[in-house]
Amino acid sequence: MAWICACCFAPADKDDGTCASCKSHGCTDCDGKKQLLKVAKEAGAPAPDAEDYGDFLSRFEDVLLPAYRQHFENDQRKRFKTRLHVVRAMVFSQAMLNYRIRAGEKDLSPANLRYAVALRSFGKLKIDPEAEHVIHIDDSGEAAVVVEGRSGWIRRSAGAAYSYLKLIGMAEQRAAAISGLLRAAPDKPEGQLVRDAYVLDRLHKLADQKFADAPAFLAAADPVLKGQFTFAQEAAHKDAREAIICEAGLLMKMTSWQDDPGWRKQGHGALARVEKILDNYEDVFPFLVEFYFEDQTHAYKV
Ligand SMILES: [Zn+2]
Ligand SMILES: [Zn+2]
Repeated sequence: MAWICACCFAPADKDDGTCASCKSHGCTDCDGKKQLLKVAKEAGAPAPDAEDYGDFLSRFEDVLLPAYRQHFENDQRKRFKTRLHVVRAMVFSQAMLNYRIRAGEKDLSPANLRYAVALRSFGKLKIDPEAEHVIHIDDSGEAAVVVEGRSGWIRRSAGAAYSYLKLIGMAEQRAAAISGLLRAAPDKPEGQLVRDAYVLDRLHKLADQKFADAPAFLAAADPVLKGQFTFAQEAAHKDAREAIICEAGLLMKMTSWQDDPGWRKQGHGALARVEKILDNYEDVFPFLVEFYFEDQTHAYKV
C-alpha cells in the first residue's frame, strides 16, 4: 500500500508506516503513523486519466474528504470548517466552470479543475513558523495573499497533490499540470477558477448577519472578497457575477455546519449533503442549480 506522508508530503510505500524522506531528515515530528491519502491499487479500476465524473466523485467522497476529516478534525486539530470549505469550493468551481463553457470558452479542463480544488488544502496540515507572524492563515481568509507569494502551505498542497496523483497512476504531465494550478500564480483559467472558488468561501464571514436585499449583501461582500474575485468581471456577465456572490452567501448561511454534530460525524456523503440543500431550495439558488447540476461531458484534457 502506497501513501503520502502527512508530515513531509512525500510519497511513501513502506507498510510499517515509516517515511524514508522524514527518516533521512531525522524528523522528530514523525511517529510513523501520519499516513495521508493511502492508495490501494484496485484490479480493474479505470486509469485516472480515463475516469469519468462518477468515478471522480467516488474518490472525492470516499478517499479525499475522509482524509480531510481524519487529519483536520481530531484531538489535535479541530478545524471543522476545512472540509466545508473544500466541499463548497467544489460546488462553486463546477458552477463557474460550466457557466464559462456555456458562454463559449474552449480548452477548459473540468478534470484538472476538480482535482486541484479537491487537493488544495492538505498543505495546511503544517503551519509555516516563519509565515505565521506575517500572515494569519485561517481556513480560507488569506488564501489569495499566500498564493500570490507562492509560499508556505499552498506549495505544500501542490507537492501533496503531485505525490498523490502520481501514486494513483495519473500521467506525469497531467499530475504536473494539476499541481501547477495550485503552485503557480493563477494565470491559467482553471487556476483562476480554483482561486475564485475559495475566495467566494470567505463569505462565510457574513453568514451570521442579516441583509435587507441583494444590493446590501453585495455591498457587504465587496470588502470581504478584497477585489480578488475575478469571475465574470466583464459588464456583459454582471448578472452572473452578482448571482453567484449572492447565492454563495446564502449557501454559507445554510451550510454553516462546523458546530453541527451531524456534520462532524458525516463520513461518506459530505458533498451530497450540500448538493441536497441546493436541490431542496432550487428556487433560491437559480445560478448554482442551473450550472452545477448541468450535464457536462466532463472530458479529460491535459
Ligand atoms: Zn515524511
Ligand atoms: Zn515526519
